[in-house]
Formats: sequence, C-alpha cells, structure tokens
Amino acid sequence: MGLGRSGVAAASYLVKRGAKVLISESQPKDKCNSKLLAELNNLKVESEFGGHSERCLSWSDLVITSPGIPPRADIMQRARAHHREVISDVELAYRECKDSVSFIAVTGTNGKSTTTALISYILEKSGRLAPACGNIGVPILSRLDAGPLDFLVVEVSSYQLEYSPTFAPHIAIWLNLTPDHLDWHGGLDQYIDAKRSMFGRQSLEDFAVLNQDDPVVAATRTRAEVFPFSISPDARSSIQGAYLEDGFLGYSYNARSRVVCSEKDLRIIGKHNVENALAAIAVCCLAGLTEKEIEQHLKTFKALEHRLEFVETVDGVDYFNDSKATNTDSAIKALESFPEKSVVLIAGGKDKGTSLVELIQSVKKYALSVILIGEAKDRFERALREAGFNDIYPADTMDEAVQIGGKLKKGPVLLSPACASFDMFRDFEDRGRVFKDLVRARAREMASPRQ
Ligand code: ADP
Repeated sequence: MGLGRSGVAAASYLVKRGAKVLISESQPKDKCNSKLLAELNNLKVESEFGGHSERCLSWSDLVITSPGIPPRADIMQRARAHHREVISDVELAYRECKDSVSFIAVTGTNGKSTTTALISYILEKSGRLAPACGNIGVPILSRLDAGPLDFLVVEVSSYQLEYSPTFAPHIAIWLNLTPDHLDWHGGLDQYIDAKRSMFGRQSLEDFAVLNQDDPVVAATRTRAEVFPFSISPDARSSIQGAYLEDGFLGYSYNARSRVVCSEKDLRIIGKHNVENALAAIAVCCLAGLTEKEIEQHLKTFKALEHRLEFVETVDGVDYFNDSKATNTDSAIKALESFPEKSVVLIAGGKDKGTSLVELIQSVKKYALSVILIGEAKDRFERALREAGFNDIYPADTMDEAVQIGGKLKKGPVLLSPACASFDMFRDFEDRGRVFKDLVRARAREMASPRQ
C-alpha cells in the first residue's frame, strides 16, 4: 500500500520469493517519482494509481503499508473491515530474519537518524556488518538481500511501530518524547503506546536503552535488561548505564566503569548530541565493542546533512544548516548548542501551530536576532514581540534571509526553522540544500567582489 522507496523494496523482496504483488498508490501516476516508477516497471508487478480499489483488499492475503498512511485513513478502515492483516516493512523484515540477525531499533521524537547512523558507523568501523536502515532512507527489506549481516540498525518511527505487532528487537533505544505527529496517531496516548509496545514485547535476554532524563521514556515497562543513559550529574552513581561526568562521556557495565572521551572530542555539537552519543555508547558496549573501539570511531563521526551541519564561514560568519529541525523542540536543542546571546536564527515555514513559549525562552537566551520566513512569520513575530524580543527581520525568500544574516555580522547564522518546509520547499532536504547553495554563492560573491 503506497509506492515509496519502502513500497518498491517490499515488492522486490516479495516477488523474489514467489509472491504475487500488487502496488496500490493513492496518487495519480503522473504525480509519482519517476525513478520509483522505473524500478516498479522492472519488477513487472501489478500496480494501480489514483486510489485504492476494492480488489486490492479482497484479493490480498497480506497488506504491507507505507509509513505515510495513518490508521484512520479510509483505506486502513476498509482493510480492517475486510479483516486483512496490515503490517509495516519493519515487521515483515523481522518475521523473515529474527533468528539470524540481531535487531537494533532506534526510536524517539528527535535524534533517531543521527543515533542510527552513529551506531551503524561505530559498529561497521569496528568490523561488524551493521548497516543503518529503516526510516533513515534505506528501506529495511532492501538490506536483507544485500549480503550477510551481524546487526540491522533500524530507525523506526512511531508510524512503523503502529503496524509492527510482533517486533521485539534485541536492543531497543528510546531517545526522547515530545508531542509531535499527534495528528497522525490521533493523540498523545496513541503516540506513546506505539513506542511503548516494542519494549513491552522484549524478553529477558534483550536490552532496553532508555533516556533516564525523560520521564515518559524512563517509565517504560519491559522485561528486557534496562541500560539507562543520562546527562544529569547524578547518573554516574548507577551501576549500569552511560553518563556524562565533568565533561567526559563514559559508561558502567559488568561492575566496571570506563571513560570513552571528552565532550569536546565529539564532532557533533550540542548537549542533544551528547545524549545521542551516550545512547550509541550504550548500544556499542552491549554489542560487545571495547571502549577503545567506541572512542576511536565516536570521535570521527560527522553530523548528518541538515542536522546542525556546519556549512561554511563567510566573511567571518559561520553558517549552520539545521533544516531537519521541523519542530520547536529540535530548534531549542540547536540554539542550546551555541553560547548565550550569540546566534542569528532563521526560523519559520509551514506553521505546526504548537506552543511557542519554550522556543521563545530559548531565543531570548541564545539569539541576538531572528530572521523569519514562510507562513509562520506573523505568528512567530507576534509571539516574540509580546515576549519583549524585538530584533526581528521578516524575509520573503531564503535568499533574503541569508543576505540579512550575513549583513548583520553578529554571530553564527543558524537555519533551524521549528516548522515544516512545505509552504516554500519540496521538503526539509530541499530547504537545507537551497540554504547551503545560497551560503556558498555568498561565499563566492565575497571572494570576488564586483570591481
Ligand atoms: P529524527 O530522525 O528523529 O528526526 P535527526 O537525527 O534527524 O532526528 O535530528 C532531527 C533534529 O532534531 C535535528 O534538527 C537535531 O538538531 C535535533 N536533535 C537531534 N538529536 C536530538 C535529541 N537527542 N534531542 C532533541 N533534539 C535532537
């Protein structure tokens, strides 16, 4: 159900095993990605576009759903009425190889991709076969045919968990929880339940890596052995866990404490990335790596594109691309990664309508100026002014925003929009690339000033 990268990968995986596959897509064919259509063509499976027919349900034994389709969508209700089993691609992959591969699953509201990539990076650099997959952009089913595996490091969204009724990974990580995607699930409780269910199914031999500083995450019930991580000063005293002490990241396991590295050694900046690094340390320790292996590779991991990614220094001003910050929580984390009263923040976009109270507190503490773009511009401006923050520059385009940021010359220019991108861009990646291109164009301009 749904022609996406994961849909095509699922079709390809199933066709190779002799299944009869029908891909059903709600969009008309001419609106679909041409590369995916070409791949679909090569697979020679049946397909339908512009809506889901009655036949696609009455005919099928099993429905593999795309993460984009919410449970209350008409097609899902019809599937339930037909008593069809509907599962995610993660569930299918798990059913297929749970006995031969160790599953490491990363979930949370923010930081999933970074932590998934980091865990995979450290494990692979240490000689394990542990590719990253799932929500991070590589469909999990495409990994199963790509060669032998020691681990599968899977980024799982709550969307996928909702349709993964038996999925019980050997190591499950829950980074944090803030209200996001509530529309999709129909409320906060459903969103929490979707995440909790995975831990509820784990067994005594499994591990749950949980953020001790997040009250909802810390209260997770599981039979698995809990390996907590925390950046709070008193975490050091627990017998098992990953912690930050006097600026050093370390962990306790099997009655021994080990120091991994200094916070300053990390190439990913900000306290939130220390949390992500601690979660990765916990997993890598449980996967059997030594502290030396963890240290060596943790220190060389660079930020993923669009996640507090350093772009360039132009005319003495550093530019950072954090286009992935589509909610206020991640924009707050980005602001907190810089010294107080230093940042020129570019924010705004498609407004999610969430409260701005906490974001504005952080803006007042860390930002000198705010440049506003997109549909959210007016609401953000009103809220900032009401809170007494007046150094605001509305901009009609990203180009204008970058130019203003450069001319202000006050401090690092940070694109961390706290909003979705669809009002001005195709997606957050498009927004981030446009920003980076403009910054680089500005660099060229500054390097060769007009005569
Ligand atoms: P996800 O895959 O969950 O969306 P990413 O690693 O892509 O997470 O990061 C998304 C955004 O969230 C980035 O803008 C980043 O600055 C912020 N972020 C990363 N890790 C955390 C964390 N542990 N807590 C809060 N925010 C975070």
